[in-house]
Amino acid sequence: MFQPDAESAPVDARRTQQDERLRDLLRRLAGCDQPFWTERLAEVTPDDVDGVDDLAALPFTAKPDLRATYPFGMLAVPRDATVRAHASSGTSGKPTVVAYTARDVEIFAEVVARSIACAGGRRSDVLHVAYGYGLFTGGLGLHYGGERLGATVIPASGGNTDLQLTLLADLGADGLACTPSFAMLLAERAEADDLQDLRVRYLICGAEPWSGGFRDRLEDAWSALTDRRVVARDIYGLSEVIGPGVAMECVEAPGALHVFDDHFLPEIIDPHRGTVLPDGERGELVLTTLTKQAQPVVRYRTGDVTRLTHGACACGRTHPRIDRLSGRTDDMLVVRGVNVFPREIEAALLEHQQLNGNWALVLDHRSTLLRLEVHAEVHGSHVDPQLAAVLAQRLTSRLRVSSVVVVHPAGTLPRTAVGKVQRVHHRYEDAHPLGLPD
Ligand SMILES: [Zn+2]
Repeated sequence: MFQPDAESAPVDARRTQQDERLRDLLRRLAGCDQPFWTERLAEVTPDDVDGVDDLAALPFTAKPDLRATYPFGMLAVPRDATVRAHASSGTSGKPTVVAYTARDVEIFAEVVARSIACAGGRRSDVLHVAYGYGLFTGGLGLHYGGERLGATVIPASGGNTDLQLTLLADLGADGLACTPSFAMLLAERAEADDLQDLRVRYLICGAEPWSGGFRDRLEDAWSALTDRRVVARDIYGLSEVIGPGVAMECVEAPGALHVFDDHFLPEIIDPHRGTVLPDGERGELVLTTLTKQAQPVVRYRTGDVTRLTHGACACGRTHPRIDRLSGRTDDMLVVRGVNVFPREIEAALLEHQQLNGNWALVLDHRSTLLRLEVHAEVHGSHVDPQLAAVLAQRLTSRLRVSSVVVVHPAGTLPRTAVGKVQRVHHRYEDAHPLGLPD
């Protein structure tokens, strides 16, 4: 553990700390003289919120608030007290800007250092960071977290696969941090080039949804390259809250991620009613930043769907855990009246050992009834002629949605070397979005 006192603190002690930090946050917001916060918290008096148990008395915040106050209207400190800003590109209009004080940048590095240690990272490691550097929080987030841990950080950023492989081998990377799809692309290229001397022990993957089945493929692919058992662990975060490092899977108990709730207080709500759901029920993740100075959020609606569970973990951390994300409330697909998350399709597909982990969906809108096409690749060049029917049957029984499954030899589907992989494609025109013949 990077900060054992905080990470394995008794639950009662942490609750006392959370109560204090929440009261402090509300005092800071009440005193910051920012019209957004004055208005949003107009109905809340300090007596209303004594601690975490009173959280539901507070209003939500959400992405549209950041857009409406662009760029700095949610700051709780003067702009000149900040030392950095990041921005995330939206699908439309202005980006979302998030700012940090020097203390925020320190905490950002601390929670990422915790996360790297969660995956098995050590200060003696070489950590190769292939997340994009720049406005996106991924690259700089892992970078400063790695340095805070004491590792030797290689700021490779995205793209340029050949150079990345050379550096991974020659500089002796112990850890690789990048999107899961890029980690898979690097493994495929390394295998094709018969690259020797890789010694990677762990992968820190995030910024894209990926299933347990994809993890198995990724761990197998990297283990085959290194002659050791490589672990791939999921890192979660969002720039509006801080960036990566909000939550992280540990080595000992994959499947759920420890939420560092001494800084980021989680709740799960019913996304339609806005009511808090009991422990263990699936709903939308809501986060309150307890320590962030520059741009705190109160009950921020992440749009991410998961479950929260408390209880002991084999690793000794006492932070509660969220399940790996099912998807986002806003990327839930509605296919002929049935709600489907792309992640669930991936999970069902990749239980089949012949598939190599590359897949894509095409939602064909050209006729009245939406048609769902599922494309997947096998290992190697031979495609079992029965496989598509087997997979279609599985998807129908598992997800209650019928689809047309097409199975391809390895290397057919488009790859992404920069940024996030696009799994879901929409077809309105005759040209196939994946560049495939009909
Ligand atoms: Zn754990």
